[in-house]
Amino acid sequence: QTRLAWFGEARSFAVREAIWVDAVDASVLLHFSQITEALNRSIYTAGGTSTLPGTLVRSEGGLPTGDSDVDLAYNYAGDTYNYYASQHGRDSYDNAGAPLLSTVHYCEGSCPYANAFWDGTQMVYGDGFSAADDVDAHELTHAVTENSAGLVYCGLSGALNESFSDIIGVAVRHAGQADVGAWSWEIGPGWCPDGRPLRDMADPARCGQPAHMRDYVPTTGPLSELNDYGGVHKYSGIHNKAAH
Ligand code: ASP
Ligand code: ZN
Repeated sequence: QTRLAWFGEARSFAVREAIWVDAVDASVLLHFSQITEALNRSIYTAGGTSTLPGTLVRSEGGLPTGDSDVDLAYNYAGDTYNYYASQHGRDSYDNAGAPLLSTVHYCEGSCPYANAFWDGTQMVYGDGFSAADDVDAHELTHAVTENSAGLVYCGLSGALNESFSDIIGVAVRHAGQADVGAWSWEIGPGWCPDGRPLRDMADPARCGQPAHMRDYVPTTGPLSELNDYGGVHKYSGIHNKAAH
């Protein structure tokens, strides 16, 4: 049936809705979004191996799988994407809508692999390691840093790189929570074997990190994984405390 209608477009940040309204009785005849979604997540499983990216198990818009490692990697990558989009006007880590790839159930060496990382292309998680919003936002922020400031991953530059990942981790967890005084500044709450968090930005010493530049001791000799590339996960405590 042909109807005489008004056409309009409702626009705001991340909103572009086309709307047709009946010119006679004002009913909405048709409406839909004209935005091509830039949020584009793919979650893979390595199935306990070190093969990357592994097998695709959930892609953008797909239903939950029932595997919490998969579904939380999906949810928290989305939360982090939305945080960058709404708070910083940034469209994915390259600000050009790069697809977000994550692999869960990764393992190399002794299994389970108790860590997570950004490999320059994608996020990678050992069993259970995608299950915290601050950790997933931390890993994705390594991609943002690599594509923006480019802080090299050693010494104080690396410590700043680490700190920005922790800061965004906490900010994503508390997105929309205006009372900053009520935020938790713990990274990986309860994730140490003794029940402590991995790091506590409010009290870095609690997890063995210095909180002041006077406690910075430059690493001598070659930088490698053995000395955490000059203490990138140690001296991040200094900038973390400043952020707190
Ligand atoms: N295990 C590291 C951390 O504690 C992982 C990373 O830096 O991305 O943050
Ligand atoms: Zn990190």
